[in-house]
Amino acid sequence: MKNGVVIVGAGHAGVQAAASLREDGYDGPVILISDENELPYHKPPLSKTFIKDAEAKPQPLRGEAFYTGSAIDYRPGIRIDRIDAGRLDIAGGGALAFDHLILATGSRPRTLPLPGSDLSGVLSLRSLADARRIRDLSAQSEDVVILGGGFIGLEIAATLRAAGRTVTVVEAVDRLLGRAVAPVVASHVRQRLEATGVRILTGTSISKLEGENGHVVAAITSSGERLPARMVIVGIGAVPNVELAQGAGLTIANGIRVDHQMRSSVPEILAIGDAASYRHWFTGGDVRLESVQNATDQARLAARTITGHADAYSAVPWFWSDIGDMKLQMVGLTAGGDSHVVLGDLPDNKFSIYHYAGDRLLGIESVNRPGDHMLGRKMLGAGFSPTPETVAIGPEGLKAALAEFQTMEPAKVRA
Ligand code: FAD
Repeated sequence: MKNGVVIVGAGHAGVQAAASLREDGYDGPVILISDENELPYHKPPLSKTFIKDAEAKPQPLRGEAFYTGSAIDYRPGIRIDRIDAGRLDIAGGGALAFDHLILATGSRPRTLPLPGSDLSGVLSLRSLADARRIRDLSAQSEDVVILGGGFIGLEIAATLRAAGRTVTVVEAVDRLLGRAVAPVVASHVRQRLEATGVRILTGTSISKLEGENGHVVAAITSSGERLPARMVIVGIGAVPNVELAQGAGLTIANGIRVDHQMRSSVPEILAIGDAASYRHWFTGGDVRLESVQNATDQARLAARTITGHADAYSAVPWFWSDIGDMKLQMVGLTAGGDSHVVLGDLPDNKFSIYHYAGDRLLGIESVNRPGDHMLGRKMLGAGFSPTPETVAIGPEGLKAALAEFQTMEPAKVRA
């Protein structure tokens, strides 16, 4: 009798891994464990639509029937405490044996050690339970302060502003969106958010939070300004949940270190999604990516590793974010770029930036130009790097160049 595969974490990565094991013909037991008491759900809508709509329901990743129909033993509300030579210890008692273990434990919000951060009304957003808290409190909060001008902070800012709140974003560095997008995209996002009435303070930190009767009432900036706030949302990034892996002695390097087939330093234990770090085939650099695409593609590969069909991980990374009236879509990894070409029109709120390192296309950032994004995924997926001159011709020129590239002899393509 096989002990089967145990998957810890039923987010985007864990659920996809369970589904892919069955799709790949794995017939042993599959146990999917979550410390949340929910049917596994989509995370991206939480910061976009869910928190402004009192009637919004969570969007399940799969219907309930999927788990029973696929013989996936889904066990909610269970926290795994420890891994010990081929078995898992369940918090509160009990143990589970496994042949393979997939750690899909995700990440959690980074915390800010700040006087007043333990006041009620100081929240962060990772889970459905967090989103419900934000939604409930937002219904009674005129003033909201958001710490952190990253994707999640700005999505929440746009959503709550559209719901009529007074929103201030406080970002410690001198620009929004860290190094995730080009400066031109970051300043475009800033201008459009400010035009809707969101106040944005960059190069500013919060020195303390003030409370009354245990509830936050204001955030005090480093320059001494008092920002009234009935709700403060801390959105300053995420840290990977590696403690379980660390306790088992797995190699950790900004995440659970895995090889190109998602194996950790102990081969029968795999790690995927936000919790996993690896050397990326595309840049040769070490990365830990936080995106739905990364979670689901790694999950598919982990299942193939277990069923003995794995290739090396070679997915092209992509990501999206909806901030107010801007659909941002990114494909590739653009760190290390030294030049770029712009297609489209910034004042029209529709443009794409093609990033190059020398003559190699590294990636594309698009705002409201989904066609460019989809074509970019095809080009990078095919290993095609158009010249900046071809990009400047526009989508039709690029499509034709890609089609020509795909008809070339493989030897010529490699050259
Ligand atoms: P998660 O989805 O976080 O799942 C991990 C699960 O493991 C959690 O349920 C956790 O509670 C559980 N767990 C952890 N430790 C244990 C344990 N010891 N025992 C039992 N269970 C455990 N990505 C995009 O590409 N586009 C977007 O627009 C986007 N928007 C986002 C908006 C929000 C509000 C958030 C929070 C994330 C967003 N992301 C977006 C990122 C994306 O959701 C994550 O990259 C993705 O969820 C990662 O999947 P995962 O399965 O690795 O981790």
